[in-house]
Amino acid sequence: MVLSARGLGKDFAGFTAVNGVDLDVEHARIHALIGPNGAGKTTVFNLLTKFLQPTRGRIMLLDQDITKVKPDKIARMGLVRSFQISAVFPHLTVLENVRIALQRPNKLATQFWLPLSSLDKLNPRAEELIADLGLSQYRDTRATDLSYGRKRVLEIATTLALDPKVLLLDEPMAGMGGEDVATVASIIADVAKTRAVLMVEHNLSVVADIAHHVTVLQRGEILASGDYETVSQNPQVRTAYMGT
Ligand code: ADP
Repeated sequence: MVLSARGLGKDFAGFTAVNGVDLDVEHARIHALIGPNGAGKTTVFNLLTKFLQPTRGRIMLLDQDITKVKPDKIARMGLVRSFQISAVFPHLTVLENVRIALQRPNKLATQFWLPLSSLDKLNPRAEELIADLGLSQYRDTRATDLSYGRKRVLEIATTLALDPKVLLLDEPMAGMGGEDVATVASIIADVAKTRAVLMVEHNLSVVADIAHHVTVLQRGEILASGDYETVSQNPQVRTAYMGT
């Protein structure tokens, strides 16, 4: 197990937002966290990235207990949340954005910023990342000129520059139309071949297509957990979440 939580809980001034949540995120698998608004999904993400300190429970990342680890260490330990930390510079090209992302600290780097002269040395890795994410033909396109979906893919590329073992994706399909959804979903499926992915996602057809495991949260607690097929047939899930 790459990332596990046991009995995870968070109270806000007497209000219990998350209670008794167990999660297991495995290498090379996509785990989707779904549930209605206010279910506690964002709070769980904030607890896992240590942005919030849990009131109860334990979190393990790659066999290390990270329950008390500070948030600034988490990315270097291999857990990276996308769309929050990934800054895409709109007026720089795809290649330039990825090169800058590669300068960021990762678990191997001893320096925070490398001298500019060393940028060229990072090029092969930048080119590789761009190719892996199907962005080669947009290599010299400014981020601002990319479609919404490709911009998302570029954000994922900048996140992957940190070489995470677990990637947390916060509603990766938010605000996207059909073609972009298909592009980003297939990129996420590819990315998950070599690392664990935990995503909060409202688009259930994407969840059905690419998630190996689904956890349904309701009022801070796990309502159901299993593969999409099993979870979507659960009568409580149908009533509470899918409205059928
Ligand atoms: P979701 O992401 O599933 O929509 P959230 O994790 O954002 O749910 O919220 C879960 C519950 O916790 C909600 O009722 C929300 O109002 C409450 N909550 C979230 N953050 C805070 C906070 N900082 N202080 C008080 N209540 C909070």
